[in-house]
Amino acid sequence: MNAPIKVIYILSLGHSGSTLLDLILGSHSQIESVGEIMAFGKYWKSFSDNSLTLEDKDRCTCGFHVNECDYWSKVRYEIEANCEELGIVPSFNSKEEIDQNTYCLMKAVLKVSEKKIICDSSKNLFRLKNYLKSELFEVFILHLVRDGRAVAYSWAKKRTHSEKEAQYSYFNILKRWQKFNINNYLSFSNFNNYFCLRYEDLVNDPPHIVSKILKKNSLEFESDQLQFWKLKHHNLYGNRMRRRSNQEIKIDSSYLENLSHQEWWLGTLLTASGLRLFDYSIQRKYQLK
Ligand SMILES: [Zn+2]
Repeated sequence: MNAPIKVIYILSLGHSGSTLLDLILGSHSQIESVGEIMAFGKYWKSFSDNSLTLEDKDRCTCGFHVNECDYWSKVRYEIEANCEELGIVPSFNSKEEIDQNTYCLMKAVLKVSEKKIICDSSKNLFRLKNYLKSELFEVFILHLVRDGRAVAYSWAKKRTHSEKEAQYSYFNILKRWQKFNINNYLSFSNFNNYFCLRYEDLVNDPPHIVSKILKKNSLEFESDQLQFWKLKHHNLYGNRMRRRSNQEIKIDSSYLENLSHQEWWLGTLLTASGLRLFDYSIQRKYQLK
């Protein structure tokens, strides 16, 4: 029987700050984060096929393309040496694929990084359920919530006009925010290995919130974690933030200035039960506990 691998799994909607949380956690001396592992199949192809055109956003956080990065070459070598059953283009979504592929990948990542715990910021609920069904992983669920009005504003502003009219409209994202966060809270909050945190509190006092997360995983906070840009990371996928240098952790309150009166109040009404559950007030102000 293979020893279970400890995984800290970030469960959140997009635009909730998971890249920041992932980088801070992955900067701990015992935690390795390689980003959204769910998307790894895409990179696997490029290991063996140099002719594949990778876009700039597909670069590893270290700056190299995944097929030129030393770290990923070592991981690939480990996988090829130890995981015979792994297909040429593994995917990482169903329970079987998670058992076969993710375990091999993570074992290789832990060996190369010489760390003990993996942080997977795939965010997706179905992937989490597959982890929980498997005996190969010991999962700690990190449910990251950000004010729904900020999430929906951030998501909608990046879309084209026609996309905004459909599923990415401000109001549709708000509905999704409410359903996703309430359902996940109800499903997992009784678990011992569950911690719910608000992005606003993380940004306001990172040492306090990160210490709490680490304590639940029997680890101590390391102050270097907050200067994550000084360390070399090898995350794949995730937003552009992972490749910027010298980043101050600061509050983004642009939604407070830019949402119209109607968007604010209708959005607040639409998500009233979710806002109440996660302690967000109806007032138009930055939400701290
Ligand atoms: Zn790299």
